[in-house]
Amino acid sequence: MSTKVSKRLAAGASMPAADENVLANTQEAVHTALTRLGYSDTVYELLKEPIRVLTVRIPVRMDDGHVEVFTGFRAQHNDAIGPTKGGIRFHPNVTLDEVKALSIWMSIKCGIFNLPYGGAKGGIICDPRKMSVHEQERLARGYVRAVSQIVGPTKDIPAPDVYTNPQIMAWMYDEYSRIREYDSPGFITGKPLVLGGSQGREKATALGVCIAMREAAAARKRSLQDLRVLIQGFGNVGSNVAAILHEMGVKVVGVSDAGGGLYDPEGLDIPSLLEQRDSFGMVTPNFSNVIPNEEFLVQPCDVLVPAALENQITADNANDIQASIIVEAANGPTTPQADEILAGRNVLIVPDVLANAGGVTVSYFEWVQNSQGWYWTEEEVNQRLEAMMVQSVHNILRTAERYHVSTRLAAYMVGIKPFAEAMRWRGWV
Ligand code: GLU
Repeated sequence: MSTKVSKRLAAGASMPAADENVLANTQEAVHTALTRLGYSDTVYELLKEPIRVLTVRIPVRMDDGHVEVFTGFRAQHNDAIGPTKGGIRFHPNVTLDEVKALSIWMSIKCGIFNLPYGGAKGGIICDPRKMSVHEQERLARGYVRAVSQIVGPTKDIPAPDVYTNPQIMAWMYDEYSRIREYDSPGFITGKPLVLGGSQGREKATALGVCIAMREAAAARKRSLQDLRVLIQGFGNVGSNVAAILHEMGVKVVGVSDAGGGLYDPEGLDIPSLLEQRDSFGMVTPNFSNVIPNEEFLVQPCDVLVPAALENQITADNANDIQASIIVEAANGPTTPQADEILAGRNVLIVPDVLANAGGVTVSYFEWVQNSQGWYWTEEEVNQRLEAMMVQSVHNILRTAERYHVSTRLAAYMVGIKPFAEAMRWRGWV
């Protein structure tokens, strides 16, 4: 562990370092992108914060009979292009600033992929790992009742995120349909198949990450098959990235979860790990040779896939990271200082807003299918996703070259532009 990390941990640091303020970092990136594109400060004024934020208090009767009150948020970044869209996360560390930043990132993703949405995000401060299934159901339904006025299939469409899944989407869909008194599958995406979910949605984020990885490797004149991949996080995204890479014959040398990491330079036995993982993505409790999380990211590899939470790649570890390509499956895993260090070392970064947008893209497909009542095969879904991902990766790489900017700034420029244009046409700015 580097001395800087150990000092911070020893100090019991609960406040994020200045460089780790995700909202401030996102605003800075949006500002730089808009300035580079020549838009006025008024445009920035309207895009630096969500247009609408709701904070709710949700009373939930726990299994032992007492009532616990949870705090939840929904942030809608911008609706100039269409209804807003984005997941709901259940996590003890959720904050309003984090949810706001996540809503801005959703806008950028939709902009890059030309989806007819603006970004949104929701979050509830809770620890579902310590709640029973019934408590989770009451919390999910309570959240929908609390935000029902500002969400809906043509207003704001939620989806899964950290520690939420198709079961939680199903309860939320059911609650919303009861409130509205009509069946409303287009209210939420990431639903189980039998309730109008889309083929391919559960694996979509991971598949998109793998396609982006293949294209990035090709841009560096490397073939995926020759690369060793390290994956941080074994939740929905991390575990599916591991599964898809394994099927493609790519060597996954490391995976990690909240308890630490597993590493084998010869490649891990992915099918066995997938079988052992629990519903919260934990797999390390079954092993004794676990590497502490602080040391995991700097293990030898060619490609690093952060697939956990924000601010994992920082100024403290960026110099020691061995990967020459980073594909950001998580939202916001890299701090701006780390970005600079990695750029100086010529590491190719496929930024989060590009790499992980396969999820919202197939959510869009789900919403389209719901409105048409006409369902696609998994092949059709995956082919459309692949075409959009390949095009988007090349668009960002070209933009980065043309403007001599980082891939992240290029992604922000491409993703934010449609919002500035839509607001101008509407006469808002
Ligand atoms: N939560 C996912 C994300 O961060 C998916 C959002 C969606 O499908 O709307 O992109």
